[in-house]
Amino acid sequence: MQTFLRKALLKWRGSKRYDYLREYEQLQWQPLEVIEQYQFDRIKKLFNHAYDTVSYYRQVFDDLGIHPKDIKNRSDVARLPVLTKDIIRSHRGELVSATFKPEQLFKLSSGGSTGEPLHFYSHLEAYEKAQALFMLGLKNSGWNENERLISIWGNPGDFTQKTGMKERFKKSLSTTLNLNAYQYDRDIINGWIEQILEKKNTFIYGYVSVMQNVAEHIIENNISVTNVKGVMTSAEKLHDWQRSLIQKAFNCKAFDQYGSREVPGIASECPAGKMHQFLHSAYVEYLPVPDHPENLCKLVVTSLVNDAMPFIRYEIGDFAMPGSGQCSCGRGFPLLDMKIGRIADRFLTSRGKTIYGTFFVRQMYDIEGIKSFQFHQINPQFIRLSLIKNHNFNDAEAQKILRIESKIKQALDWDDLTIDVQYVEQIPKTIGGKHRYIISDVTG
Ligand SMILES: [Zn+2]
Repeated sequence: MQTFLRKALLKWRGSKRYDYLREYEQLQWQPLEVIEQYQFDRIKKLFNHAYDTVSYYRQVFDDLGIHPKDIKNRSDVARLPVLTKDIIRSHRGELVSATFKPEQLFKLSSGGSTGEPLHFYSHLEAYEKAQALFMLGLKNSGWNENERLISIWGNPGDFTQKTGMKERFKKSLSTTLNLNAYQYDRDIINGWIEQILEKKNTFIYGYVSVMQNVAEHIIENNISVTNVKGVMTSAEKLHDWQRSLIQKAFNCKAFDQYGSREVPGIASECPAGKMHQFLHSAYVEYLPVPDHPENLCKLVVTSLVNDAMPFIRYEIGDFAMPGSGQCSCGRGFPLLDMKIGRIADRFLTSRGKTIYGTFFVRQMYDIEGIKSFQFHQINPQFIRLSLIKNHNFNDAEAQKILRIESKIKQALDWDDLTIDVQYVEQIPKTIGGKHRYIISDVTG
């Protein structure tokens, strides 16, 4: 009844969220060629729209001497320049489509985990599509539309203190409970767990590091959780050790999904545990990084969601590779293999060599006595490694930690490096509540 009323209310307000969801759900079972054609039609439409109504893109096409009608395949798309965060910051006004009136636009911000937040514009229809994509990801992980969803989220801007009649009515129809993970401690986690345990068939959505902390709390306190159907994590890479911990604590499967505020719904995991690309919402390209020791590719994404401020060939800041093979689940969406770490997570040696953070994160893989860690480069010769111990910590684990410095120095030929190990109680998070494994104050 609650679900029916909520959908009826949304429809009455002109929302097409559920129409989009149905469309996407059907599309994902089509053969790959059909989905790719659908995707390319959307790209063409977006490029035409950008050329006709966005002054920045009109200039880009004109400078290249091409017209959107000349874009016929992937290599034609690759002729367009990459859109960086710096370009967005310096050309924000010119990137907005003239078909939208100022009152139709709303300003959003993204990131902040690697420095300055990125501000951009969106509109209601794009928001509805993003909501449909979010629901598609959840449904592919086993959530049903009428089931309770607990969202443990960390963006302070998402929590407003509206308490009027209208707000209370909307809340009474909603099956989503939003818990504010902007700041939390043991007492707050206890409160969350009480709410999680309140009702059966609950699905949970949250930041990886926050879900990791809740999972640790559940295990340390021997709390039995049997009512959670699944946990979907986002915003940070879900490492294998975190997945195991979350699955053990919540007694269910954990699923990862990938997207960002500016490009929502890029990929999401299916019941078979594979990450599928949502081709209808994002067009993904993999740009090789020259001389990268692990042959990783930069991810460049064109969003097919927001036409108020088109993001075409946007350098999102993450590494990824195309996934190989097909998934047993039967979905036509191709696979994506996320790589650990963001492109910005890197260190510079005293000889000016760039070392990607993935290498450092890997060194921690077989250390079981550590709850959380962070490598922080203070200067070209000095990295501070902050560690939070867990109950498995012992002398053997401490010895492994001590060997990390020599292992890293040797492997990277970085002789003047000192790694200062500090055992701490807490590692500060970003303003948005994300954990960072790698931070560097050294720029070059
Ligand atoms: Zn699958």
